[in-house]
Amino acid sequence: MSDKCPGCKMLLEKKGFKIRCFGPCSCWFHQKCAEISESDRKLIESKKLKWACNGCGEPSDHEEDPEDEDNSPMLRDVMDKLISIENSNRALLKQLKLQEAKCTRLEEDLIDIRKEHESLKKEIASLSRDKGKADQELLRNNIIINGLPKGVDAGALEEAVVKIGNILQVSSNSQG
Ligand SMILES: [Zn+2]
Ligand SMILES: [Zn+2]
Repeated sequence: MSDKCPGCKMLLEKKGFKIRCFGPCSCWFHQKCAEISESDRKLIESKKLKWACNGCGEPSDHEEDPEDEDNSPMLRDVMDKLISIENSNRALLKQLKLQEAKCTRLEEDLIDIRKEHESLKKEIASLSRDKGKADQELLRNNIIINGLPKGVDAGALEEAVVKIGNILQVSSNSQG
């Protein structure tokens, strides 16, 4: 390592982040003199990216080379973000498909419930028809005596009504 930073012509201390130019000069620079932000520095360190000083590596001086993408921490950052967005999109899509499947199942359940409801309605209708018939039959078999003529023995009359009822196979009850 040379002792002086070409950026500020000052001595390079042992502590602190310094970066080496991968261009022809191969000089070491202070982070500040290399104009590298904290987030770029982290990226350069974690991804082991190459950096070139302004003198060696003006982007316009380079040929259009797809490999250059790796030299731009900013672009790398954007690419990483795009990839993570894509990943979360894929996860969301997966969840959406699961929800869709659940919806379809619920719809099928609903159809089943509707069918059951229809058959119950039919059953109720047929039961109420049966009840109507039974009511009519009951009406036909009823013997209703409203009030007693004077001088009639109520006990004897009731006995007689019960007897008639038995013949007709109809139950009888006394109401007062
Ligand atoms: Zn410097
Ligand atoms: Zn350089």
